[in-house]
Formats: sequence, structure tokens, C-alpha cells
Amino acid sequence: MQVHLKGRLVPVKEAVVSVFDHGFLYGDGVYETMRVYEGVTFMLDEHLRRLYRSASMIGLTIPLEMDSLKTSIYDTLIANSLKNAFVRLTVSRGHGPIGLDPDLCPEPTIVIIAQELKDYPKSFYEKGISLVIPETKRNLMEALNPRIKSLNFLNNILAKIETKKRGAYEAVMLNVYGKLTEGTISNVFFYKDGILCTPSLECGILDGITRGVVIDLALRDGLGVKEGEFTKEDLYPAAEVFITSTTLELMPVSKVDDQKYAVGNITKLLHKAYREEVNVYVANVKAEGPSLWGYE
Ligand code: PMP
Repeated sequence: MQVHLKGRLVPVKEAVVSVFDHGFLYGDGVYETMRVYEGVTFMLDEHLRRLYRSASMIGLTIPLEMDSLKTSIYDTLIANSLKNAFVRLTVSRGHGPIGLDPDLCPEPTIVIIAQELKDYPKSFYEKGISLVIPETKRNLMEALNPRIKSLNFLNNILAKIETKKRGAYEAVMLNVYGKLTEGTISNVFFYKDGILCTPSLECGILDGITRGVVIDLALRDGLGVKEGEFTKEDLYPAAEVFITSTTLELMPVSKVDDQKYAVGNITKLLHKAYREEVNVYVANVKAEGPSLWGYE
């Protein structure tokens, strides 16, 4: 396995970062996870735009143009002969003396890891997964805005620990005002009274790229969509619940706390539409020429 580290491909054993890297010391950095279908990175521009936005929200300048990052992503995929994969692109503040001041770090550390994507168990999609609403509240927007996709993941990890203790797969965290936000690695949707509902960005969530695609597809297919402030009492009586993320796509939810749900038609329909959207995207990128997607 080859890892892209500081501008070059190195064997995984040599892909090591300094103990003085502020990503390691303070979680000071940002990242993106992308999914690759048939050698094409889905929604690449959107992911990279979000990466630059996250970086700018923490005052971190990525010293490379977007095109250069794209080339590095494809070089990493080619070096590892990967076609169905995920890519994790990390930009940390870089190496510097101990101390919080970002100016201590002259150069960000950029790492690209590409690995084969192991399919999630089929049963997850057929039967759904369980969610809990944990005690851990989502970070306040005014403290650490969840729109920053940062390396600082302890909020999510604390929720994940609770989730595992309660035997569930994913959480949907509330904010400090008791409104639904998002999962530890996913956005959440529910279908109720003929409307597809999902917490709005103002609730303090990451603007998931999958979430955005699903909203667009739902609107295109004539579904009513409401982005708003919801409580757990709004969610419990829903007809269908599902979560979204780049790697999970749309995953049905069969249980939230003690409430049970069937895997419903709206979830199935939207997942099918999502898959079709991916296929169209992949075909379009390939039609633009091999230089963009690397190899046959
Ligand atoms: N929320 C959080 C906290 C996440 O970590 C993720 C995964 N990146 C998502 C939502 C889903 O975002 P996306 O659809 O862009 O993968």
C-alpha cells in the first residue's frame, strides 16, 4: 500500500508523521472522506471545496491548488490499483514546537490514504440499523462549528462510546437546545406525514455532501422536503428513518431508542435514485476523458 505524504507516494511503513505534528498534539487540522466508484471520485469538487472551507474556518492555508490535490488523489488511487475505494485526505497544521499558536507550524502536513472499500453488510440495507439519542450533545456552533470537518472528533467519539454501550450502531445527537442534529459520522432524515425532514444547518451540523444530493433528488422527484428544527418527539413517530454519508450512502434505520421502523419505500426509492445519480456522474466524468479519472 502506498500513501501520499507531503507530496510523494511512500510505502505505508514509511508513511509516518512527526510526534510534534499539531494534528497529533491538538487535533488541529481538517479532512475529507471521499468515495471512489469505478475509479471515479464521486463529488470530488464538492469535497475539495468543503476541505478548503474547513481549512479557512480554522485559519489554515492549504499551500496547493485544488487541481494539484486532485492529481495527488488520482496518483494515490493508481499506485494502489484501486477502483472501488475510499480516500481519506487529511491536512493538519503541521510540525511545530509545543504550543497552541498556529504560527508555530510553517507547513501543513498533507496525507492521502486510499483503501479498498469493504461493502457494509447487506443486512444493514435490508433490515436497517439502530440509532440512539445519546446524552452527549453536539458541539455548539458558537464553540466549535460542526461545519468545520476537523480532526477534533472527541465530541463524536464520546457519542459513539455511549452508542456502543447501548448496543446501537449510530447516534443522533441533540444540540444543547434539545434539537436533533446529526450522527457521529452521518446526517439523519425522517419521513413523516408525506414530508422528508432533516435538521437544518442552523441546528449545528455538517452540511453532508450526501445529504445535499438526497435533498436535490427528493425535490426533483416531487417529494416535500423540510429542513428545520426538530425534537426527538418529532422523530419518534416517523414512518421511515435513514442516515446518509459518503461511504454509507443511504442506510435505513430500524430503531431509534425504543421506537421501531420498517424499511420503507421512500428510503428505497431515494437510495435507488442516489445510485443512479452516482452512475450518471461516473459516466460523465469518464466521457470527459481518461486524464480525469486516471486509468481503464
Ligand atoms: N456528519 C458528520 C459528523 C460526518 O462526519 C459525516 C461524514 N463525513 C457526515 C455528517 C456526512 O457527510 P458526507 O455526506 O459529506 O459524507
